[in-house]
Amino acid sequence: MAVRQVTAARPLRPIDVNPSQRTAVIAYVALGANLGDAAQTVRDALTALGRTPGIRLVQASSLYRTAPIDSSGPDYINAVAEVATTLSAPDLLTALQAMENGAGRERPYRNAPRTLDLDLLLYGSARIDSPALTVPHPRMWERAFVLMPLHEMAPGLVSDEMLNAVSGQAIQRM
Ligand code: ADP
Ligand code: MG
Repeated sequence: MAVRQVTAARPLRPIDVNPSQRTAVIAYVALGANLGDAAQTVRDALTALGRTPGIRLVQASSLYRTAPIDSSGPDYINAVAEVATTLSAPDLLTALQAMENGAGRERPYRNAPRTLDLDLLLYGSARIDSPALTVPHPRMWERAFVLMPLHEMAPGLVSDEMLNAVSGQAIQRM
């Protein structure tokens, strides 16, 4: 019987070694700023988000102006971005935090005014509860400045009841 020659097995190519080969997930990111030229900061952040490797900007909401809640300083400018991303949720959060740091964010105390705040609202249909990351964002349903821009882009995600629940919060679409 012929002996089949055994060749050294080729090393298996690790799956997911290249994030760009992974299927993209639709995620929603909340942007907020209330120091300096906040509107420009948010616009620049939307541009930077779309230029980040592994992140494609699908659509951005209008900008909204809101009075600070649980915070202080000038009015906030807020928006929500819909992105398609090949990054994992923790890697996406890391990328968002790098952008916050790049915008000069400091955290002198909790809820301090901020040059730029980027929160991960939704990551596909994932539910994540780790010390560093909770998704869906635990406070997103209480905030008009999240629900109004999210509803503008993805009306199916925000019901009329949800909008009614935050209708007492002063917010102005710019
Ligand atoms: P906040 O956005 O609540 O005003 P920070 O931006 O300072 O406060 O975030 C505080 C921490 O919240 C971060 O260190 C981050 O690890 C954690 N965190 C948990 N879940 C999320 C999320 N979905 N998006 C952004 N940050 C989150
Ligand atoms: Mg944040």
